[in-house]
Amino acid sequence: MVGRPPPLPPIRGLEPVSLTAWEGRVSAVVQLQGCNFKCPDCAVPHLVPQIFEGGTIPIESVLEAIHRRRRWLDAVVIAGGEPTLHEGLCDFVKLVRELGLRVRLHTNGSHPEALREVLETGEVASVAMTVRGPLDPTYAVAVGARVRLAAIYESVELLLRWPGDHEFRVPWLPQVVEHAQMIAVLRMLAGARRVVLEPAQDGTPGIRVLQQVGRTAGPYVDSCVVAGRPGQDFGGRARSRGVRS
Ligand code: SF4
Repeated sequence: MVGRPPPLPPIRGLEPVSLTAWEGRVSAVVQLQGCNFKCPDCAVPHLVPQIFEGGTIPIESVLEAIHRRRRWLDAVVIAGGEPTLHEGLCDFVKLVRELGLRVRLHTNGSHPEALREVLETGEVASVAMTVRGPLDPTYAVAVGARVRLAAIYESVELLLRWPGDHEFRVPWLPQVVEHAQMIAVLRMLAGARRVVLEPAQDGTPGIRVLQQVGRTAGPYVDSCVVAGRPGQDFGGRARSRGVRS
């Protein structure tokens, strides 16, 4: 007997065109509902509950809206929430790939098994993983939830070995993560091809402090970029409901 395929992920928002979700590419950003973290600085708290009573956007209308714009788009960025929570993620990635567009995945790295599964499809071109602190009890405070530190480490290792494009996003919440701890985070990412260090909240820490800490990453990573604003490319400006033509 053939089992039923897992349900496709619930879609809560679509940003039809973004110039920042994947640097150098024009992307549509699809936001999935549900996250296992409750980061104090979350830019998309409406996406955190597993279920949204107001309903989700039909997948057909999302694919259709992307299809209409495919001539102007390079890619689709699948963000959350946390996309790897959804069993149907691989099937959704395949549907997007049938539109002829590249796929970038955003993840908090808490489910390396699911991350590995979707990478093994060969259909994902890029992954952006957020790392919020050193791998000690601070991490749970930074994400507002229980977290398997070994899972975060496994996801980092997985992406460092993966030949595709990767980016580690490091939002810094200075009330939780101290200066020396942030340097330890950058050391943990040794071997990364691209790290983006950003303030978790507007203006804190200031750009000079970010640049100073970012410079310490120089010996370890290929590129460490300092962003001036928090979460600017995680779909925070995306429409939360409905798909306009
Ligand atoms: S992982 Fe992302 S979506 Fe989830 S709570 Fe943190 S910032 Fe929000």
